[in-house]
Formats: sequence, C-alpha cells, structure tokens
Amino acid sequence: MTQTASRRAFLRGQFSQRRVMRPLGALAPEAFARACTGCMDCAEACPEGIIITDSDNLPVVDLRLGACTFCGDCLNACETGALDADTPWDWKATVTDDCLSLNGVSCRTCEDQCDEQALRFRLMTGGRAQPIVDPELCRGCGACAAACPAGAVTFTHQDPRPDLQHDGVNPC
Ligand code: SF4
Ligand code: SF4
Ligand code: SF4
Repeated sequence: MTQTASRRAFLRGQFSQRRVMRPLGALAPEAFARACTGCMDCAEACPEGIIITDSDNLPVVDLRLGACTFCGDCLNACETGALDADTPWDWKATVTDDCLSLNGVSCRTCEDQCDEQALRFRLMTGGRAQPIVDPELCRGCGACAAACPAGAVTFTHQDPRPDLQHDGVNPC
C-alpha cells in the first residue's frame, strides 16, 4: 500500500486501532496521519537512532534499539506540526510472559537500567519473580526494553479513549 493510500485508508477507518509509537510529541493518530509527510527528518535528527520507518513509510520509535532521552531533537526537526511539544509522552512499560525472571531464570536487567526505580519484583514459588512496573514512576523511556535479553518489555499508551489502549511497541 502506498503512503497516500494507507493514509486514505486510515482516515476511512480501515486501520486497526492498534496504537503505534510515533516520535515524541506526535499528534493523536488521525491528526498525525494527516500532518506527517514521511520525510523522516525526525529520524535523521535523533541522536539515539531509535526512529525507523514502518510499513506505512511513517516514523515509528523502536525502544528495543535504545532508550529515548527526551532531548526533543526529533520534535524540533519536524516542520509540519505532526510533532507538537505540548503532546505528553503517555507510554508506560509493561512486561510480558516472555520475561526470564517470570520463568525461573535469574534476571534483574530491567530493574538495573531503570533510573526512576519504577520496577520491582514480587517473589513467587519455584524461584520465579514477577516484575511489576509502577506507572506513576515510569516515564516510558525504554531503557529497560533496550536492555532486556528476552525482549519481554512492551509499552502501553495511556490514551483516555478505551479503543486506543493497546500495546504500542511493535513498530511494523
Ligand atoms: S519530521 Fe515530522 S513530518 Fe517528517 S516524518 Fe517526522 S513526524 Fe513526519
Ligand atoms: S530484563 Fe527482561 S527478562 Fe530480565 S527480569 Fe526484566 S523483563 Fe524479565
Ligand atoms: S520505561 Fe524507563 S522509567 Fe519505565 S520502567 Fe523502563 S527504564 Fe524505568
């Protein structure tokens, strides 16, 4: 599907409601689809190299590649208004069942990476431990996701509209 066709399909409501992790300051999905030209200036400006192109030729953040420092360079590079400094970064980390610790393998890598101390572990039977993210402390930076050896950290958007509360880490 071409970018124009995919945007048209989006505006006609033919896309699933799965929220995609667009760069810092991204407008709500419909408005972003209208404003973003796919120029990828944001990706070129990102010093962390974590913005890639998705299957719709639009920018998406992949926190498995590295953490976001919230420097704002992507936002400042965007000339179309698709990225707006007033839009909060409403992503929070969640841990999936692929977590090593949850499956009895000793690991605290995510906890070690979290400067906010948003992760803690609840001990379980059988030498297992369940990682728990405190949404009040989590900034959605992705340091845990980038370091996790099992790829077990994903992100959920805290959009108040229920139909948009879906996982958002998978870029393509
Ligand atoms: S710089 Fe702006 S218009 Fe260009 S791809 Fe990034 S978000 Fe879209
Ligand atoms: S780094 Fe990944 S595998 Fe290790 S405890 Fe954290 S979520 Fe589990
Ligand atoms: S996304 Fe950042 S703040 Fe949130 S748990 Fe992971 S490392 Fe901590």
